[in-house]
Amino acid sequence: VRCEVVAVGSELLLGQIVDTNSSWMGEQLALAGIDSYFQVKVGDNQGRIVAAIRQALERSDAVICCGGLGPTQDDITREAIAEVLGVELESRPELVAVIRELFQARGRSMPANNLRQADVPVGAGFIPQTRGTAPGLICPLGGRVIYAVPGVPHEMRDMITRAVIPDLTARAGELATIRSRTLRTWGLGESAVAELVAPRLEALDAAGGNPTIAFLASGIEGIKVRVTAKGTGPDAARVAEALISSEETQLRALLGDTVFGIDDDNMEVAVSRLLVSAGATLGVAESLTGGLIAARLTAVAGASAWLRGGIVSYASEVKRELLGVSDGPVVSEEAVAEMASGAARALGATVGLAVTGVAGPTEQEGQPVGTVWIGLDLTRLGHGGAVTTRQLHLPGDRERIRQMTVISALDLLRRALLAAAEADS
Ligand code: ATP
Ligand code: MG
Repeated sequence: VRCEVVAVGSELLLGQIVDTNSSWMGEQLALAGIDSYFQVKVGDNQGRIVAAIRQALERSDAVICCGGLGPTQDDITREAIAEVLGVELESRPELVAVIRELFQARGRSMPANNLRQADVPVGAGFIPQTRGTAPGLICPLGGRVIYAVPGVPHEMRDMITRAVIPDLTARAGELATIRSRTLRTWGLGESAVAELVAPRLEALDAAGGNPTIAFLASGIEGIKVRVTAKGTGPDAARVAEALISSEETQLRALLGDTVFGIDDDNMEVAVSRLLVSAGATLGVAESLTGGLIAARLTAVAGASAWLRGGIVSYASEVKRELLGVSDGPVVSEEAVAEMASGAARALGATVGLAVTGVAGPTEQEGQPVGTVWIGLDLTRLGHGGAVTTRQLHLPGDRERIRQMTVISALDLLRRALLAAAEADS
């Protein structure tokens, strides 16, 4: 079954409200394994709503109209659907009774307009209202069906889960679900990721396109690789998850340690897991990032188990006095190595991480804007752990350089911990 969403409301077109209803319905349709290839928005105009529904019916088996079921003159979805069906609207006494009761229960008098909400196209079914005064509609047309649900989000969600999805899956005659999982990578550009994954894309295409793979460039958070699979049959969810898991294994073999997490795992969560499993704690010294690294790390729930703290050693004297950085340039390999060791020592941590560099707008110590050093002290981790450094030349403005430094430093730490864990096992 293919199902299309038609969101009704001029305010959606004018940008006054965001069409969150359509994205929510898209997610629900996917979870129910119902294909959805189009989403349409249309203003409060009967002729155009009719045209949108007709076009949707040409390419889909089911259409969900959302919005425009209210009592006012601009709520005309009912009229538009009746026109598409080629039937009149009739008032349904059972709906009239419910609407009257709702007003009585609230001790309010009922405007006559509200009775329009009891109108249903001749021959159609309705979805009883539970929260608002507007009932929904289920209108079969040949082998197809038009649903209408209110625009108010919580009323819409209630009717979709209670009535529309069950009706759609019954029509589909098979149980299905669409699931997805996102592998999050850092360190490669989008085209490099696509190139690595190309063999899988070809193989999946040749095998019929289930699962499918999509790329999402997420700026400072790296490149996401999303695997989407459809499962059918009584075990649909398990089938879909199994397809995804086996694809994940294949993709990880191609992408290696550029994959740092799944779905909502961010870089700091990946780092925290590795620190916990190594039984290590972390101390951070930051210059150009001014505490951004520590801020991200402390956002992880339970960070106190592995994070000792951070020192914002912005002035050169602070680097020297608190961290034991020797005389000489502070944007340098020597300085960042001493900062990392100093952070571990001063904070009593197993692992020290440090960053220093030139965020701009002007150069410093003769070094161009974007020159960044990252230092890591893993000597207390055992097994030949050493002090390592890495130099970066980052493009962009001050804010971008700072943010790129944060994620690059966390990624360097992640890879070092990963390597240490592998050397260990
Ligand atoms: P009402 O009885 O309130 O008139 P209705 O079915 O006629 O309900 P609309 O008038 O289209 O629905 O929308 C009512 C409210 O619901 C809007 O003011 C808006 O806040 C919200 N809404 C409507 N459509 C959407 C949408 N597509 N996405 C998110 N919110 C929406
Ligand atoms: Mg309305």
